[in-house]
Amino acid sequence: MIRINEGYLSLTPAFFFTKIGEEIAAFEKRHPGKRLLHLGVGDVTKPLAPVVIEAMHRAVSEQGDAASFHGYLPETGTDFLKEAIVAYYARRNVTLSMDEVFISSGAADDLGAILHLFSPENRVLLIEPAYPAYADANQMDGRKLIRLPGTPENGFLPLPSPDLQTELVYLCSPNNPTGAAYTRGQLQQWVDWAKARQALILFDAAYEAFIADADVPHSILELPGAETCAIEISSLSKTAGFTGMRLGYTVVPKDLRVNGVSLNDLWRRDRCTRTNGVSYIMQRAGEAALSEEGQRQNRVNIDCYRENGRILSDALRSEGLWFTGGRNAPYLWLMCPDGMSGWAFFSRLLEQAQIVGTPGEGFGPSGAGYLRLSCFASRGDTEEGARRLMKAL
Ligand code: PLP
Repeated sequence: MIRINEGYLSLTPAFFFTKIGEEIAAFEKRHPGKRLLHLGVGDVTKPLAPVVIEAMHRAVSEQGDAASFHGYLPETGTDFLKEAIVAYYARRNVTLSMDEVFISSGAADDLGAILHLFSPENRVLLIEPAYPAYADANQMDGRKLIRLPGTPENGFLPLPSPDLQTELVYLCSPNNPTGAAYTRGQLQQWVDWAKARQALILFDAAYEAFIADADVPHSILELPGAETCAIEISSLSKTAGFTGMRLGYTVVPKDLRVNGVSLNDLWRRDRCTRTNGVSYIMQRAGEAALSEEGQRQNRVNIDCYRENGRILSDALRSEGLWFTGGRNAPYLWLMCPDGMSGWAFFSRLLEQAQIVGTPGEGFGPSGAGYLRLSCFASRGDTEEGARRLMKAL
């Protein structure tokens, strides 16, 4: 008899975004013609940089000519894109070798797939609230989850303590959904803890391009010792607006060993088995996005999202609401007024201000009582949203 993986049956039904959609549909039915401002969405809205579009056009033409056509490419990515990533890290004084970089179809893919390397007996520490895929991917494998809650007291940036018992830990900085980001000193505490405990950090750097503060590291590999206890998983989704393109990368340092076994060797073996890599056109697009000119053009979009963060932060501050984020990440995480639940405040903002946020309950138990706003709406909608927010509060 076929036996399914029962880990899938332990998952919470994926009703969260469905429920938001149903609430919006019901509101629109009750109030036809009222314009909603979508300030909760975690997807980029600005088009790709011109240099990326040009690179894709060139790559498409190459694929139409026998002399320049590419078939299968190396499973772990092309040298030209790896070189671009190595150079990107070198600008942050992180020295990588090409064989430490693995090209992927995005961070979501590798955040789950990397778990192939670890037995289900390992425990996993999640700092919550968290990007929901961390918990789900581990529950699918039947791994035990340990939850370390973010709170206003720790600024949603909990630190390790010697009694924390786990083998794997996900860290996401800057964080989705809280927008909070670890400083160099705080992140070093995690690295030192992981080394002492022989734990492994799975570091999600998807939002590194938004960092504004000089003492917030873009990569965990900037910190001494991280090359022996951390894997970094990142993406061009938010760095270069690639959410609809699908391109990311994972860095597995050569010095990373578990019981003498090289995780870099294991991951290479895994990739050469389970994927045939990413398309040539996408990799040329990624190379262009990470070039000096690509980064200059991407920066224009990121600065625009960042300005939205400033507008929303000013509005929340003027109303005396407690929040994190809005500076090093495209999210603001606010404490709902009057002890309301995230869902209750979501409904109040929808009814009174026609603003759609994201209830904190969608990001784990410690998200209850919070709401996430994002900076990806247009400038006009963000300004209008800030005005409506101030009026409704
Ligand atoms: N990690 C975090 C924290 C995210 O918020 C997201 C997407 O929103 C991802 C990873 C997924 O990124 P990608 O588009 O590269 O799969």
